[in-house]
Amino acid sequence: LVARMRPFGTTVFAEMSALAVRTGAVNLGQGFPDTDGPPEMLAAAAEALRTGQNQYPPGPGVPALRAAVAAHQRRFWGLEYDPDGEIVVTAGATEAIAAAILGLCEPGDEVVCFEPYYDSYAASIALAGAVRRPVTLRPAADGRYAFDPAALRAAFGPRTRLVLLNSPHNPTGKVFTPDELALVAELCREHGAYAVTDEVYEHLVFTDASTPHVPLATLPGMRERTLRISSAGKTFSCTGWKVGWVSGPAALVSAVLRVKQFLTFVNAAPLQPAVAVALALPNDYFADFRDGMQARRDQLVGGLTDAGFEVLAPEGTYFVTADVSALGGRDGVEFCRSLPERCGVVAVPTQVFYDDAEAGRHLIRFAFCKRPEVLTEAVTRLRRLS
Ligand code: PMP
Ligand code: GLN
Repeated sequence: LVARMRPFGTTVFAEMSALAVRTGAVNLGQGFPDTDGPPEMLAAAAEALRTGQNQYPPGPGVPALRAAVAAHQRRFWGLEYDPDGEIVVTAGATEAIAAAILGLCEPGDEVVCFEPYYDSYAASIALAGAVRRPVTLRPAADGRYAFDPAALRAAFGPRTRLVLLNSPHNPTGKVFTPDELALVAELCREHGAYAVTDEVYEHLVFTDASTPHVPLATLPGMRERTLRISSAGKTFSCTGWKVGWVSGPAALVSAVLRVKQFLTFVNAAPLQPAVAVALALPNDYFADFRDGMQARRDQLVGGLTDAGFEVLAPEGTYFVTADVSALGGRDGVEFCRSLPERCGVVAVPTQVFYDDAEAGRHLIRFAFCKRPEVLTEAVTRLRRLS
């Protein structure tokens, strides 16, 4: 194994899902829903399979999907992208992130990101021979995660090539505020840096959040330097389809495509027209999806609090983090490894998403994208801890 990959073992998601299968525990670790997405989308995929849309699609993605991605971004965020040249379909957001970093970073270039970070970020940065400059998100007095603006400013320097921003943020459920985004944008402009935004949870900002979702690309001077990434997995409950996309100015998007064509070439021909159907669903679909997830958030946050956890309620995503100190836990990794045996539930330690392990030592993450009865069962089991 090459040196640059040696620090990376099996992903924590694979480890914890295997543990759930082995022990028969309720799996609130890896984030995937246990119900299917919109029936119109599933029917369109079946139809595409049946009608022979099963060979290589065009390199940038099927035209209907690129057109739907453009229309969706115009409808929800007022962003205009040309489906021919400014949008490319990828094998999930994961490939888009990897291809963006590989296409934009020279070895030694620096990538500013926030920790805890989604695990593929560190690996993609390492594959490019780039260097990550994490800025730590910490629980603040108001129960929300925040960062020190001076630390963000200090993370930017002459080698900064890009900032990788995930909002709404996995695993904390943080939604970056307009002020925080304005600072990120200011620093990008000041340092001539690009931004790569991971917005896979763009439709999961709860109605009581302190801020709506604001794509960084909508800020002054940012559209021309931002690659905006999203995917179908979360919004349409089809994480196994791995259909994602990247939007941005043609020069940046073509850098992504240059890499993508040698990573996967193309992907998921019959699923692409189906995702196009889903993206065109009426606003009610997106609102109902969010409301359903918000009810589950409330159910799990309430249940975890009753079970004795100190809960950091999320404003977005389908994850909630909790501090295990209140339950006598000293270390989230140890806590999660023993949890299935102790009470038959799987969670994910967020410590593994920090360079500064101390900052995440006591924190663990639960996914609430599960049927209410599954959450009820998990909470019943977790109550046995106290
Ligand atoms: N980014 C974040 C923040 C995620 O939580 C995930 C996992 N769903 C991904 C990217 C990967 O998305 P995809 O499955 O579309 O590759
Ligand atoms: N994004 C999902 C999570 O954070 C799972 C992704 C994965 O398993 N790689 O749980």
